[in-house]
Amino acid sequence: MPSPGQTIKPLVRLGRSPDDCWTWLSHIAATGHAKKTWHGRDVHAHRWLWELLFGPIPAGAVVYSTCDSKSCINPHHLACGLQAEANRASINTKLLPADVIDIRNAKATAGQHTAAHLADRYGVTAGVIREIWAGTTWKRARRNYGPRGAAKARAQ
Ligand SMILES: [Zn+2]
Repeated sequence: MPSPGQTIKPLVRLGRSPDDCWTWLSHIAATGHAKKTWHGRDVHAHRWLWELLFGPIPAGAVVYSTCDSKSCINPHHLACGLQAEANRASINTKLLPADVIDIRNAKATAGQHTAAHLADRYGVTAGVIREIWAGTTWKRARRNYGPRGAAKARAQ
């Protein structure tokens, strides 16, 4: 078996720092999760990588992202636990819908370092910013969602 590094490098876009998201470049499932074919079977890439690195996922446990990016497979952004813990991690998000709208709007005038600046400002990774721009995460955030978004919608 090739080492995990050899297998993964062509499949992901690594960030500039080790803390950045590893953006999956291959197939993305309708759920937003990174998908991989492994021994002729479609598997979730984050689960596949977890098992490769840490061994079998215990029965009843799930592997989930702790960085708001479903298609990130940076092992440092993954955790294994109960579905309830995964739900709590996804609720415990750093972004409000209004933030997502602002991030989307910033795309129009984005320069080379915009994603990194926005990531710093909102306390997320640049990968999450790029996923919002690509529409693969936070799809449901609407302009009139939440107090700040509503105020903005009225002002326009
Ligand atoms: Zn991540």
